[in-house]
Amino acid sequence: MTVIGVLALQGDVREHTDALAACGVTTVPVRRERELRSVDGLVIPGGESTTMSRLLDVFELYKPLRAALADGLPAYGSCAGMILLASTILDTRDDARHLDALDVTVRRNAFGRQVESFEADLDFAGITDRPDADPLRAVFIRAPWVESAGPDTTILATVPGGPAAGRIVAVRQNDVLATSFHPEVTGDLRVHQYFVDMVKEGTAS
Ligand code: GLN
Repeated sequence: MTVIGVLALQGDVREHTDALAACGVTTVPVRRERELRSVDGLVIPGGESTTMSRLLDVFELYKPLRAALADGLPAYGSCAGMILLASTILDTRDDARHLDALDVTVRRNAFGRQVESFEADLDFAGITDRPDADPLRAVFIRAPWVESAGPDTTILATVPGGPAAGRIVAVRQNDVLATSFHPEVTGDLRVHQYFVDMVKEGTAS
């Protein structure tokens, strides 16, 4: 039985939980270290990265989570979750925590005021490769982008057009996945299924 946790300190926990349940896995809200220890993988939802950062300290989860990720816990971060997983964050508070699980520099609120929220149809490597596959509808809400990605990361999706064309919005490094956008709000389960498959591949042996 595959158990996937959703970090439940703040943000759109419910939507991720529902999407994971629809993929057929057991879900656990994670607020305590003992809950973290019970999961095969963890989703860090969208919300507000600086608030989540503060709550990671309040719930004494920062160190255990950082250690679990360093130890290979599969994780998927969406939007604020992507920011928290990064090794460097631009345009955040000086005291904001990051988990150093992805060798990327992310820029918070990168798309700027005029396009605070927008949608785009993306090609997503590993999800939309088949010629008959629909593109992935991506919803961006005060989203970050990946400003630069280290050599061990794989870029899975970029913005297809407009002022931000070419900006990196989905990456993977080993068992850590991150998207700038929110697949949990579209009803399209393919990104969650991709993560569930990653977790299952890791626990199969
Ligand atoms: N702008 C938010 C942050 O800095 C992220 C927005 C989101 O998760 N939708 O954390």
